[in-house]
Amino acid sequence: MSNKTLMIIKPDAVKRQDMGYILSRIKAAGFKVRRLEMKRLSVDKAKDFYKVHAERPFYDSLVSFMSSGPVVVGWLERENAVNSWRQLIGATNPAEAAVGTIRKDIAESLEANSVHGSDSDENAEIELNFFFEDRPH
Ligand code: ADP
Ligand code: MG
Repeated sequence: MSNKTLMIIKPDAVKRQDMGYILSRIKAAGFKVRRLEMKRLSVDKAKDFYKVHAERPFYDSLVSFMSSGPVVVGWLERENAVNSWRQLIGATNPAEAAVGTIRKDIAESLEANSVHGSDSDENAEIELNFFFEDRPH
């Protein structure tokens, strides 16, 4: 079981200045933040990141949302990092997210759901490389 995952604080949460709130939840859950960077995704970068969803009806809107303002990308480490972070962020749709999850607490909508988390160890590796090509091993 791998110990690292990629998190993104999405544009809705950055706009509300919820970065500190999310980072405090990350600390409380025992993660270590290894890398952290605020950046603005170009449309092409957002398209590339979410290319697995290219055929879905929400793809264009999602790409436009993700490139609409700055995001914060982070490299988190903890035992069982992928599952632990997915549990802490909650279901994709905040209306269905469990009580106590970040999406339940602060997400605006199914699209503007405040945070991203890798969904497998394999994708965590791919997504960390996508944003942190120069990361130390
Ligand atoms: P997750 O982020 O929970 O892994 P997905 O990988 O299924 O969810 O979808 C990626 C992102 O696309 C979601 O976090 C959300 O921002 C957006 N999204 C997913 N499904 C929908 C939908 N039906 N309508 C609008 N946006 C969606
Ligand atoms: Mg996903």
